[in-house]
Amino acid sequence: MMGMNSRLERNEYGMLTERVWRVGGMYTAAIERIVDNLLKARPFADTPAQQKVIDLLVETYRTGDLRTFDDYSIHWLKDTESLVDFTNYFTESYGDPLGMKASWEAIVNFKDLAATERTEKLSANAQWFEDHSPVAPEFKKDKVKGISAKVITAAILGGDLYPSTAIGINLPNSDWVRREFGSKSVTIGNLTDAYNKAAHGSGMDKEFVIDEATRQLINQYGDACDDLHTDLHECLGHGSGRLLPGTDPDSLKAYGSTIEEARADLFGLYYVADQKLVDLGLTPNLEAYKSQYYTYMMNGLMTQLVRIKPGNNIEEAHMRNRALIAHWAYEQGKAHKVVELVKQHGKTYVKINDYPALRELFGKLLAEIQRIKSEGDYEGARRLVEDYGVKVDPVLHKEVLTRYDKLHLSPYKGFINPVYHAERDAQGNITNVTLDYTEPYDQQMLRYSRDNATLPLVNE
Ligand SMILES: [Zn+2]
Repeated sequence: MMGMNSRLERNEYGMLTERVWRVGGMYTAAIERIVDNLLKARPFADTPAQQKVIDLLVETYRTGDLRTFDDYSIHWLKDTESLVDFTNYFTESYGDPLGMKASWEAIVNFKDLAATERTEKLSANAQWFEDHSPVAPEFKKDKVKGISAKVITAAILGGDLYPSTAIGINLPNSDWVRREFGSKSVTIGNLTDAYNKAAHGSGMDKEFVIDEATRQLINQYGDACDDLHTDLHECLGHGSGRLLPGTDPDSLKAYGSTIEEARADLFGLYYVADQKLVDLGLTPNLEAYKSQYYTYMMNGLMTQLVRIKPGNNIEEAHMRNRALIAHWAYEQGKAHKVVELVKQHGKTYVKINDYPALRELFGKLLAEIQRIKSEGDYEGARRLVEDYGVKVDPVLHKEVLTRYDKLHLSPYKGFINPVYHAERDAQGNITNVTLDYTEPYDQQMLRYSRDNATLPLVNE
């Protein structure tokens, strides 16, 4: 994780120096405010273990020392008892083309106890899923350890998780910490719920789904299978598999994020169609998964292109991964017409003819992607991503944009934080907190910059 929290600069003597983001270092004005607020939260921690987590995070902000950050991460992932939890630091490198520098993000959340029963069923069976996956035995974990999974309700979002946000998180990212200690995985239930509700009635399915029968399938099972796919991706997918001894975890370089997301997505796609999920009571039958397969292929082959400007390639890791999986499966199944792109009244539609065969293809690609990751096969990763995940068919792209335009939708969705009002008694103690959801997006942004701006527009 070296260098994830610093800027590399050439100093006046022409030598490379690392300017670390810490108290007293780069971004100190903002980081001091973060530390102040962490210290204010500390007395209200759920458990002494959580206080320790906060202490280590504060220490990381003060020193910028990534060994302390690893220590923080280990304590954080082990804390599965706290009902209120958070992530907070320079965390993900999705925005950096080289995948080195992390952007700051934060979320405060509380556990959704009822929905967590769902993810607990998965994590309790993690070893079964590992043992039965289509991956070659030498790339599997003998003993899956420390996967904790829960469904959470986001209470407030910050940094790179706001206003557009992840729907699931699996941290820490450090490979050695994950290997030795495991990871903590969450699905953010209130956000997926909001996305689902916003999708119904948007007109997207009427425009892009091939027929009424498929639309009904998606209406009936789509939301539940989407949630399950996220659970499988976060709670089992990212935690599965192992590197061969001696493989450098950074060997896939700029393709690492895309390959890792593809690995987790494929794990989810493969298992969402498994009888095991019916046995666990997570899916009602062996029809339900087809809703997920259809929407995934439609998105990867067509509809996610609404986020790309004409003439551009696909750059973002999650989008590359979805394009990679969908195009690879489409091409590999072409001879047997597993998936087709068909024209009706001048419009292109995805048509899936053979769902079980598509599942086999997902399994095959999962095995190959796991091999690439386990062996650190850079050339294999580069070829898969460049051949299937980057390029855009300009004719289809134009058609999708034209059809999408008529729906008057926006390609990304964001979230507005609720405004929290504290009610206090005569002594100033907080007695209640009320939530107000009426603040509009622009007002919220302006308020944040008025009350919380600590940094200049250009950080020298
Ligand atoms: Zn992921």
